[in-house]
Amino acid sequence: MQDATDGAADGASDGAADGAADSAAHLRAEAVIDLRAVEHNTRLVLSAARAVNPAAELMAVVKADGYGHGAEQVAAAALRAGATALGVATPTEAMALIAAGHSSTADRPIVAWLWVPDEDIAPAVAAGVQLVVYSPAHLEAVTAVAASAPGGVALIHLKIDTGLGRGGAVPAAFDVLARAAAAAQQPDSRNGQVEVVGVMSHLACADEPGAASVPVQIAVFEAGCRTAAEAGLTVRWRHLANTPGVLEWPGSVFDLVRCGIGLYGISPFEAPHDKADRLRPVMTLRARVALTKRVPAGHGVSYGLRYRTATETTLALVPLGYADGIPRTAGPEARVLIAGRLRPIAGRIAMDQFVVDCGDDDISPGDEVLILGPGAHGEPTAVNWADACGTIGYEIVTRISSRVPRRYVGST
Ligand SMILES: *Cc1c(COP(=O)(O)O)cnc(C)c1O
Repeated sequence: MQDATDGAADGASDGAADGAADSAAHLRAEAVIDLRAVEHNTRLVLSAARAVNPAAELMAVVKADGYGHGAEQVAAAALRAGATALGVATPTEAMALIAAGHSSTADRPIVAWLWVPDEDIAPAVAAGVQLVVYSPAHLEAVTAVAASAPGGVALIHLKIDTGLGRGGAVPAAFDVLARAAAAAQQPDSRNGQVEVVGVMSHLACADEPGAASVPVQIAVFEAGCRTAAEAGLTVRWRHLANTPGVLEWPGSVFDLVRCGIGLYGISPFEAPHDKADRLRPVMTLRARVALTKRVPAGHGVSYGLRYRTATETTLALVPLGYADGIPRTAGPEARVLIAGRLRPIAGRIAMDQFVVDCGDDDISPGDEVLILGPGAHGEPTAVNWADACGTIGYEIVTRISSRVPRRYVGST
């Protein structure tokens, strides 16, 4: 795990950017990841869940390399702050966490919920990763390799589709799946043995306060849990809520909640929200000006010459582009902070670079460009970028590519 001394000793989100300024003097660009903010956010969502169920546990969702923040490091910070499970989409992501030194145990599992029945899940099952099962084919695939699981028993979660229409068995098929899983729990079953430790589902509209579908999904989920019990399954964790579920829908909090976006400090809600607005954004994306130049009025900028300077002006070249994850679709509202001022992007974002029109301000190569961050210095937030690009904050941070080095501050 990479670490650095930093100026974020008080854990304030603006400290990360200050610390970054000191120690990144020779970099093109970097994403500074404030692990104290992850800890703060973990405690915040956990206390919201525990206000509903004092025994609720938190699964830190670190799929897609921790939404672009670094799965290994975010997982460690979330576990320090009280999370007791890690969630990823794919078994490969689970194995990457294990390769980085995390482990999956019965009490502190790594759970993976997206896999194809014929893919090679044997390494994940052998490492104790808990796979989510939602069809007879998935159940057969796990039982086929269950003998290699720790103690010879593969721990699994069953997923019900309570209305999202994505993964999960529809209620009409869940009864059959639950009975098949109960049969596979018997030591004398022909294949390896499994044990169902969880029943889960996922919400479609938890980010829309008042959405009519959420209470319906909760009721279908409760019925599915009864179906599992009638099939003879006694599960440790029933889990439905994601971040907006925890923050907005107390009825969606069961034994465990699965939170991703909240841990990264980004509100899942469109409107201001009393709880979500206390989250602290974790990522600060910064670059340094590569070149400045004076150009005359009417000078074209970037592919297609969609931008022309209005007057004689100074252009600053920023060495980040869509290959780094800066969305090419960003509209004219997309801005970056240079020398204390928000400045619009001039012309198209290219693969590796974009240009900022800085007027007559005194900007030099090497000056800091804040692309996104907590907003404490006036820089845009991931949500501001999302609004300028017609997307959501999730996508803005997740797409920051591996060409941008991550630097971790605030780890203990
Ligand atoms: C990504 C994901 C989550 C986390 O959702 P957030 O809105 O980021 O909290 C939870 N559960 C499942 C199944 C997911 O795919």
